[in-house]
Amino acid sequence: MIIEMSRGATKDQVDHVVERAHSFGFEVQLNLGTEKTVVAILGSDTGKVQTDAFAVLPGVQSVTRVMKPYKLASREFHSKPSKINVSGVEIGGQRVVIMAGPCAVESEKQLMETARAVKECGAAIVRGGAFKPRTSPFSFQGLEEDALKMLVKVKSDFDIPVITEVLDIENVELIAKHADILQVGARNMQNFALLKRLSKLRHPILLKRGLSATIAEWLTAADYLLAEGNRRVILCERGVRTFEDSVRFSLDISSIPVIKRFSHLPIIVDPSHAAGHFAYVPSIAKAAIAAGADGLLIEVHPNPQEALIDGLQSLTIPDFKRLMTELRTIAEAVGRVI
Ligand code: PEP
Ligand code: MN
Repeated sequence: MIIEMSRGATKDQVDHVVERAHSFGFEVQLNLGTEKTVVAILGSDTGKVQTDAFAVLPGVQSVTRVMKPYKLASREFHSKPSKINVSGVEIGGQRVVIMAGPCAVESEKQLMETARAVKECGAAIVRGGAFKPRTSPFSFQGLEEDALKMLVKVKSDFDIPVITEVLDIENVELIAKHADILQVGARNMQNFALLKRLSKLRHPILLKRGLSATIAEWLTAADYLLAEGNRRVILCERGVRTFEDSVRFSLDISSIPVIKRFSHLPIIVDPSHAAGHFAYVPSIAKAAIAAGADGLLIEVHPNPQEALIDGLQSLTIPDFKRLMTELRTIAEAVGRVI
């Protein structure tokens, strides 16, 4: 339930609404806008209380039931698009933010070479997996803490923020100390215990869409991240599983306008994990920007043939450079810059 206070409602009136919500056993979250206050009533059973219980209180302008399962990620709660600052890089503004780098950090040389090149080509953030979610426990699992140290070296040598995936609660603190953005992978989108832990942080979190998650489920998962006041949540479309098997996943391009319509959160697109093949990455990347994505997450490797993971879908450095030139043209055509 969303309660919009009248312009000029007093603090006592807002407190009264909050007390009434608590008396029903609900949690609340306040959005103290410059013009008016919005109170979100949180709880899975708000349906049991009449909207009139709040509508009659002094200073309340309107009470709206939120039929959708998500609240904090919705436009009803926050009408303007959120812009998220990641160590000086704004996500959700006019600039399309390109994040690029290897699937996994494999060595200092591989990471530094890729980071230098992608930055020169115009990437604003470097990606690199330290802890890898693998289908098989016998596959390469990542260089873990050593990789985090290498990512810190990227930050200091190239003055560029870094993003890396957090797989479990155990490593949240460690990763938060090293990375600028913590990535929640597709396989963890509904790991609610992890989401709750991340909600306590104030670090930017990138939430990937689950392999078979609906948009509503994805936004409801985002609510977990927002529930304890972390406002810096970025969504990432990376394709969903369908009957089509010529690509690794089917990129749902329509989720971009749907998210823009129903949520204030920025959305970026990962064309690499959707495509599964380097040949398809440029088309998907260009389509994503044309459709309004706020950024891209692209896998780049200096020598994809030697990559320990996801070599087939990784762009070479010259391919990435060429793509960046094309992306600038598309961005300009839709009123954005890179
Ligand atoms: C990744 O970005 O490294 C990754 C594993 O992606 P996803 O969670 O989308 O499969
Ligand atoms: Mn990968």
